Amino acid sequence: MCVPASLLRADALANLGYSEGDLDDKTQETLHSALDHIAEWSVYKQYYCYLKDLPATPDFLQQVSYKSIQGKLDTALLFAATLGLGIDQRIRRLSLSRLSEAVVLNAVANAYLEARTDLFIKEILPGAVLFCPGYAGTSPEDNRSVLKLLDAQKHLGIYPKDSGLMLPEKSMAGIVVANYRFSCRACNIRSKCDYLRQGKTCYGTKAAHD
Ligand code: SF4
Repeated sequence: MCVPASLLRADALANLGYSEGDLDDKTQETLHSALDHIAEWSVYKQYYCYLKDLPATPDFLQQVSYKSIQGKLDTALLFAATLGLGIDQRIRRLSLSRLSEAVVLNAVANAYLEARTDLFIKEILPGAVLFCPGYAGTSPEDNRSVLKLLDAQKHLGIYPKDSGLMLPEKSMAGIVVANYRFSCRACNIRSKCDYLRQGKTCYGTKAAHD
């Protein structure tokens, strides 16, 4: 599955917090090389199951913090994807001696993982979004439940860490939900949200004034 190069470049620049005009020749070259090679340097894998095929709705999804998606679980999927350990190791090696290249590759890898995931979601459930544990006041530790239900260790080689982070680090897990729009309006931790205080959101866009 091919990710449009222009989309990947725009997303990588956004991850870096740069615009085209900010790039010097050396960074241009590093970015170009990372964009050219990311598919070869990573091993994208994904795995999913429909919630309706599980014997019961998982306990973590019955918590009040998941209220905003609870009416939309009939068509939803549990999903996880990874770029594999090789890209983590490449970024770590680069960071020892060529930190700026490591930073660019890290941004490109994040953009590539998100783009591959978006392409899959468009194909399987058009218009849906990936709701990841950690969004909208839910706990990142619920990643452990998603990974366990998917047996992601066996299918994808993803191991959960105690914090809810994952190994390989370039991995994502969550619930693919149709007819859902991210919004802070009804979020129950809005009044104490650190993301909003910084003008950001937990779901990766700039804070809207809604
Ligand atoms: S960014 Fe919005 S949705 Fe996310 S935790 Fe903060 S208030 Fe809730």
